[in-house]
Amino acid sequence: MSAMLAGKTALVTGSTSGIGLGMARALAAQGANLMLNGFGEPAQIEALRQEIEKTHGIKALHHGADMSKPTEIEDLMRSTEQAFGSVDILVNNAGIQHVSLVEDFPIEKWDAVLAINLSSAFHTARLALPGMKKRNYGRIINIASAHGLVASAQKSAYVAAKHGLVGLTKVIALETAQTGITCNAICPGWVLTPLVQKQVDARAQNEGVSGEEAKKRLLLEKQPSGEFVTPEQLAGLAVFLCSPAADQVRGVAWNMDGGWVAQ
Ligand code: NAD
Repeated sequence: MSAMLAGKTALVTGSTSGIGLGMARALAAQGANLMLNGFGEPAQIEALRQEIEKTHGIKALHHGADMSKPTEIEDLMRSTEQAFGSVDILVNNAGIQHVSLVEDFPIEKWDAVLAINLSSAFHTARLALPGMKKRNYGRIINIASAHGLVASAQKSAYVAAKHGLVGLTKVIALETAQTGITCNAICPGWVLTPLVQKQVDARAQNEGVSGEEAKKRLLLEKQPSGEFVTPEQLAGLAVFLCSPAADQVRGVAWNMDGGWVAQ
């Protein structure tokens, strides 16, 4: 499987941290050139970009588009095509969370979660698809969530956005069914990234327990394995979805969640 993706270009949104960074590294390990995206300290992002280039012998660029802003997404897509000639693999991963009861949910948080976790994937896909169709090749991988399949209280915007992303995945899969383009969703359970660390910290504070105890409680409430899923495991699934063995995997919402949605 080595260098399976040589000559291909992968754009991974939200790839300066967590799951997106794991995806970017795994695709680079398969030989894909990378357009990184996401927020962070410029010097740290530049060091990361150089380190990935050196480790994998590929070309990596970073574009700082705010994925809640359609005009910035347009610039990201244009810049990627100009720099590399194509977007062959699109991983829609950028995401945020906000936890609150519906009646208390700040309107601007609702709008931001929907824009970043759902609408951004519509914008990147609508802009990537014409080139993918011309070349008759593409892989669109939407990072949804167990919350794309089942709900939890106090996560209205996130659950709505992730269910929406699973729906969008199926529509794109149908519209590309007779082409060399596939579109699928990956639905992770708990992964210990900065996004989840915030929820662990909030729980430790609210329940007056240690960080370790808060992690255990968070996991056992939803995830029967009692263990976190890792970005590397999720990236392994993304690499499989990019392989020829997955040519007829179309429109699935594939959970990797320690048994979360089996309950
Ligand atoms: P993270 O906070 O570690 O990383 C999020 C990434 O998105 C960062 O690179 C950040 O800079 C970027 N980002 C945030 N807002 C952005 C914006 N407006 N524009 C551009 N980039 C932006 O989070 P993570 O846990 O790695 O989450 C990645 C994806 O996985 C999200 O879509 C999340 O919903 C999903 N997910 C995470 C978990 C989990 O347990 N961590 C579980 C299921 C699904």
